[in-house]
Amino acid sequence: MGIRNVLVVNAGSSSLKFMLFDMEAEKMLAKGQVERIGIDNPLFTFTTGDYSEKQTLCEAPNHTAAIKLVCNALVDPAKGGCLKSFADIDAVGHRMVHGGELYSGSVLLTPEVLEAFEKLSPLAPLHNPACLQGVQGCQNVLADVPHVGVFDTAFHQTMPAESYLYALPKEVYEKYGVRKYGFHGTSHKFVTHRMAEVLNKPLDEMNIITCHLGNGSSITAVKGGKCFDTSMGMTPLAGVMMGTRAGDIDPAVVLYLLKNGFTADEIDAMMNKKGGVLALGGTGSSDMRDLCSACGEGNEEAQVALARLVHSYAMYIGGYTALLGRVDAIVLTGGIGENSKETRAALLPALSGLGVTLNAEVNNQVRGIEKIISGDDSAIPVYVIPTNEELMIARETYAVINQ
Ligand code: ADP
Repeated sequence: MGIRNVLVVNAGSSSLKFMLFDMEAEKMLAKGQVERIGIDNPLFTFTTGDYSEKQTLCEAPNHTAAIKLVCNALVDPAKGGCLKSFADIDAVGHRMVHGGELYSGSVLLTPEVLEAFEKLSPLAPLHNPACLQGVQGCQNVLADVPHVGVFDTAFHQTMPAESYLYALPKEVYEKYGVRKYGFHGTSHKFVTHRMAEVLNKPLDEMNIITCHLGNGSSITAVKGGKCFDTSMGMTPLAGVMMGTRAGDIDPAVVLYLLKNGFTADEIDAMMNKKGGVLALGGTGSSDMRDLCSACGEGNEEAQVALARLVHSYAMYIGGYTALLGRVDAIVLTGGIGENSKETRAALLPALSGLGVTLNAEVNNQVRGIEKIISGDDSAIPVYVIPTNEELMIARETYAVINQ
């Protein structure tokens, strides 16, 4: 089946982000989002070509209404009219969060797949039901179009048992699925494929460490082009320090707090929403821009938080270097990896034990572009590679339909 236009949808419980791609040229034709779905005053943002709008006078009581808004805008001549009719949308690619052990690749979303996906909801109670609402809304409006699911966890399904098993009684894994799954897989896969092009190496010979550093962050050891280990766990809370998430802590802390009168919900909020940079930075913000400017102004609390963050990155990068043996490149991506020169300038010296050096001059100029930021004498080259999860979802969708 020949397909051309792929609509990529990323649905949350009250939001729906989208991008439309022409896959012949891999060109983005339109993008935007509907926010506050099912809440008062929904907000619709839409951009195509030179046309751009932000409107609050819209109705979005549910995901079906939200995707209708999107499709109507895509075909509206007064709004740039990038499509003639709904029939010009050839396929929809959905960002799905937790595919558990069921999905190691992208799949056509049949009723059977959706039923199996729904059963994985206990593993991601906030995200998976929201994804499903998004899929169902899109299937209501675009019923004759193939829909493909692209899972955040899929790239990490190649991890060996020594990477994914927690050292707990086996039944916890076998009965409850408690193991490491990993997240941001679409981004780690995108930058891995891009690095293979940049290094001009066959994918299956690539040993790299990919660092997706954003509000949520994860670091992955890629061995022979496949995920060997990753820092996030059964949930996206594990691993490095993040914007509002604690990252790795002694699990007994949870028990200690429970026994000292905190409720499970309070601890959950503390670990997921009130931890990380927000907790330690002393600026009241989880944003790295605020943390880095406070560091520049000599705020010692902020400086300790930045050092703690970089320390957690370096621990994973160092550990994964030992596990991989040979590392062809370290890749930095995500909002922080691509843009925060201060964080990168702190991170590379923290990797000096691996023989990594920083080219400070180049690093200062790099924002959202592809570039090597390590010195010529660095034992491992460090690259900034902008990620593009939406394009990766569009490519996966295209590949599933054309296979
Ligand atoms: P998400 O995990 O929500 O996708 P992003 O990948 O967008 O997050 O990353 C958000 C983080 O990137 C924030 O901490 C933000 O401060 C940081 N960031 C974005 N742009 C810049 C910039 N120009 N300079 C420094 N940090 C930036």
